[in-house]
Amino acid sequence: MSQFIIGLTGGIGSGKSTVADLFAAQGIDIIDADIIAREVVAVGSEGLAEIVEHFSVEVLLDNGELNRTALREKIFNNPDQRLWLNQCLHPKIRQRMLDLVKKSSSVYTLLVVPLLFENGLDSLVNRTLVVDITEEQQIKRTTSRDHSNTEIVKNIINSQMSRDDRLSKADDVISNQGEKDDLEQAVIALHRKYLTLSDKS
Ligand code: ADP
Repeated sequence: MSQFIIGLTGGIGSGKSTVADLFAAQGIDIIDADIIAREVVAVGSEGLAEIVEHFSVEVLLDNGELNRTALREKIFNNPDQRLWLNQCLHPKIRQRMLDLVKKSSSVYTLLVVPLLFENGLDSLVNRTLVVDITEEQQIKRTTSRDHSNTEIVKNIINSQMSRDDRLSKADDVISNQGEKDDLEQAVIALHRKYLTLSDKS
């Protein structure tokens, strides 16, 4: 059981998944908050049942899955409903993260959380690691990955913590401004550091 937890974060398109894959290649267990956020509202989950009870079956698709668009519309411009939804889901996400950390068997565990600082989930981790790129690179890489337009990506960037604020909160920073191939050496160096730190914890 590994209890030393690294929280990996960064803005959209910064390279969190790319960096996480490189840690996984070093044998480190990865816990992905995006996957957990989907699991807690999966068909048959307590989360989905509570959402339907609160918002009605209007937020369900015909196949019984959550209709994300319908749910987004319910909370759009409605801070009370947004708050209700966050208060419903956040404890479930947090608990599932902790359960998975307990099950992790690698020397330390990497928790990948896009909104680590925004949602206060840095309180769950021993150290934070921020993947850093410029806003121009974020826009370029995200639009080409998602085939989305610049405006959509800019809106997402603006809804997230600013680059400076994120960097000021980071214990460690990995720059992804160069080539993908440059990342591996940086990850290996951090991996060595985390092995030492987890040994002492
Ligand atoms: P995140 O998980 O933070 O949203 P990704 O790891 O998906 O970011 O990276 C965003 C996109 O940029 C992906 O298509 C990825 O393959 C690409 N990418 C990652 N690092 C680099 C790099 N150093 N140079 C060019 N493209 C990169």
